[in-house]
Amino acid sequence: MNFFSYLRVEAGRIFRARFTWLILLLTVLAPLAGYFVYKPSNTLMRSAAYIANPALAGAFGGAFLFAVLALYEFDMIHRNRTAVITDSIVSPVQLNVVRMTSLIIAAIGCGFLITVLYLPYTFITLGSVFSLSLYLKCFWVVTVPAYIIAVLSVTGVYQIVRRVDVSFLIFLIFACVNFTGLMNNSFILRWINPVIPVLSDDFGNNYVLMMVLYNRIFWFVLLGGIWILSLLCVRRYGKSLLGSLLHNSKKILLPFMSIIMITGSAFLYIGQPFIDNSPLEINYDAYNKLVYNENIQLKKYYVQITPDIVTGKQYGVQTLQLINNSGQEQVGMVSINPGYKILTMTANASTIDYTDLKDDELNQKQIKFTLPKDKEIELVIEFGGFPKLWSIEETFPGQTEVSGDYIFLVNQDFAPVPGFYGAEETIADITLPSNLIPVTAADTIEVLKDNKNGTTTWRSSGGGIIWHLYAAEYDVKHIEAAGADIDFYYSAKHKAAMERVKISDTLKEVFEYCNEHYGAFPFISAEHPFKLVELTAYMGGGFAMDGLSVMDENCFSEEGLGDPLKGASGNEVMAHEIIHQWWGLGKMFPWDEESGWSSEGLTVYTTYRLMKEKYGAEYARKHYVEVWEKQVSEYYLNFYHRNPEYLNKLPENYQARIHNSKLTVMNYCEIPLKILKAEELVGGEDKMDQILAEIFKNSSQPELSYQEFLDACGLTKEDLNLD
Ligand SMILES: [Zn+2]
Repeated sequence: MNFFSYLRVEAGRIFRARFTWLILLLTVLAPLAGYFVYKPSNTLMRSAAYIANPALAGAFGGAFLFAVLALYEFDMIHRNRTAVITDSIVSPVQLNVVRMTSLIIAAIGCGFLITVLYLPYTFITLGSVFSLSLYLKCFWVVTVPAYIIAVLSVTGVYQIVRRVDVSFLIFLIFACVNFTGLMNNSFILRWINPVIPVLSDDFGNNYVLMMVLYNRIFWFVLLGGIWILSLLCVRRYGKSLLGSLLHNSKKILLPFMSIIMITGSAFLYIGQPFIDNSPLEINYDAYNKLVYNENIQLKKYYVQITPDIVTGKQYGVQTLQLINNSGQEQVGMVSINPGYKILTMTANASTIDYTDLKDDELNQKQIKFTLPKDKEIELVIEFGGFPKLWSIEETFPGQTEVSGDYIFLVNQDFAPVPGFYGAEETIADITLPSNLIPVTAADTIEVLKDNKNGTTTWRSSGGGIIWHLYAAEYDVKHIEAAGADIDFYYSAKHKAAMERVKISDTLKEVFEYCNEHYGAFPFISAEHPFKLVELTAYMGGGFAMDGLSVMDENCFSEEGLGDPLKGASGNEVMAHEIIHQWWGLGKMFPWDEESGWSSEGLTVYTTYRLMKEKYGAEYARKHYVEVWEKQVSEYYLNFYHRNPEYLNKLPENYQARIHNSKLTVMNYCEIPLKILKAEELVGGEDKMDQILAEIFKNSSQPELSYQEFLDACGLTKEDLNLD
C-alpha cells in the first residue's frame, strides 16, 4: 500500500470514531466563547467583537481540544498494545506521518465547518461594515493554524518521550507561557493568543493580519523542523530512543530537512520585517539625532510616491533643490523609517555615497551623505521598503498601513525627512488605486491625472517637509460654516448613517454654535479648507494640527451613535463628537479620576445647550438633565457605592467594571450637573458662556483642569456639591 492508501484508511478510521466527533463539536463551539467570556480584542468595533474575538477564542479552545485528540490518536496503538502488529505491516515512521496528515485534514475540515456555520450570524450582525475577506482571513490565519500548531507541538513531544501525561504537561506549559512576560510581548511568539488589539470596521486590517500570518509561518517552520526531528525518535525494532534515532537517520533526507527548517525559523525570527530595533525606553534626546545643516538651504521639495497595496510597501523618489553657499562639500542627513532602504542617491545626476547609520530610535534611522561643493544642487533620493513599526507598538500595532482598503503613512513613513531648513515650495505627487481618496495635512490636494490603469495621481502642495497621508474609500462632504470651508471625510460605509444624522446640517450647527459661543477653532485658517477626517480605531483617539483634525472611527459606529449618554438621537451624538473638536482637541483636559472632570463634561453640557437652543427647554430637560439626574441617583443608590467594603471582596474584573461605570456616570452625568449648578450660581447661561469663551481663548494652561474651571467661575468644589 502506498501513502495515500494508508491515509484513506487512517482518516476513515479517525472520522468514524465518536471521540473525534466530540472533539470537533467542541472545537466548533469554542468561538462562541469570544462573544461572552474571552474578549481580548476591543469590542467597541463590531469586527473585533464578532470576528476577532470568536476567531481568537476558537484558536485558544481549539488548540487544547486538538492537542487532546492528537495525543489520543498517537497513543492508541500503544494503549491497545497493537503496535507490534502494525509495526510489522507498515513502518511506524510512515504511520505517524499518515496520522499527522489525518489530523491536519480534521483541522481543515473543522475550519470549513466554523467558517460556514458562523457566517450568517456575523453577516447579519455586522451589516454595512461586514467584510468577507476579513472574516475568512481571521478564521484561516488566526484559528485553524492554532489547531495545527497544537498538534505539531504535542505529538512532537510524544514521539520523543512516548508518555501521554508528560507530553500534555509540556504542551500545557507551551500554551500558558503565551500569557507570561516570556512570550506575551512578542508578536512572533504568541501563537495561542496572537496580537489583535482591535479590528477596524471601516478601514484596513492588513498590517495586523500580516503579522499574525508571519507568526504562523514562523511556528509552522520551527515546529515542522522539530517534528521531523522527533519523528526520527519513533522507536524501531524494540530499540532505545538513541538506537531508533540512529536507525531512522540513515535516510539522510529527514534530518537534512529538519535542520534546514529549524535554521530557517531562526532566520524568520531574526529577520522579521515588522518591528524596528528602537530601544523600548523612550529617549527624548533622540529627537535631535537628525542634524540640520545650516550651510545648505532647501529651496524646493518635491516627492513622487507610489504605495504598493499588494505588498504593503512604500516607494518614492524625492527631489530636493538645494543651495550650497559654502563653496565646500557638505554633510547632509535624512531621517527615514527603519524598514526602508535608499535605492539610489544622486546629486546633479552623479551618484553619491551614503551611509545608512541603522541607528533605530523613535522609529527613525538616519542616512548620512556628502554633498558636492556646487552652488546649486539637485539631490534625488530613490527610496522604498516595508514600513516598520516602532518597537513600543509591538502589542498595539495597526496604525501604519498600505493596503487596498487603507493607507496611513505619516512623517518618516511617507518619505525621508530632510535635515535642511527652508522649503518655501513643497509638492507631493501621490499615485493611488482610483477608489482611494487621499487626505494630506497640506494646503491643497487635487487630481493631477487619471493613469488609465486603475490608478490616479494626486498633487498635494504646501505640506512642509513632514507629511501626513491618509487614504481610504472616503465620502466627502463640503460645507461652509463659521466663515470657513470644511471638508469632512468619512468612510463610505457610513454613507447611509451619515445621511440619517443629517451630517452636513449637524456639522454646520456645531461649528457655528461653538464658534459663536467659545471662539474660533484654533486649527482653522481662512485660506484653505479645514479637513475633518475619520481614521482607524487602531489610533485610539483623535488629534488636531493646522488645517486638519481627525476623529477615531468609534464615533461613527452604530453602537456609538445610539449612546443615550451622548445625545438623544444619532445626530445629537454626532454633534457631541464634533463638539469634542473644541472640548478635547481645541482645549485639552488632564486625567482627573477623583473629580470625574474630563473633556466629556463640557462636551455633554455644550450638546445640551445646543439642543436646548434648537428644540426648546422642555426637550433639553427631558433628554439631557433628567437622564443625568436619573443616572447619578441610581448610581448613588448602588449597593457597592453605599457599601464600599463589599466592593473589595469582588473578583478584580467585577471591581474594574463597577469602577468604569462609576467613571462613566461621573464624566457624562455628574460633572454636567455640576456645570449646570455652576451656571446657576454665576448668574445664568450668558455669564457661563462668557466664562467658557474666556477660558477657551485666553487660558495659558495647556490643559483645562477642574480647579481652573472653578477659579474662572469664582466657585469652590463644595459650592458644586449635588444634593
Ligand atoms: Zn465624548
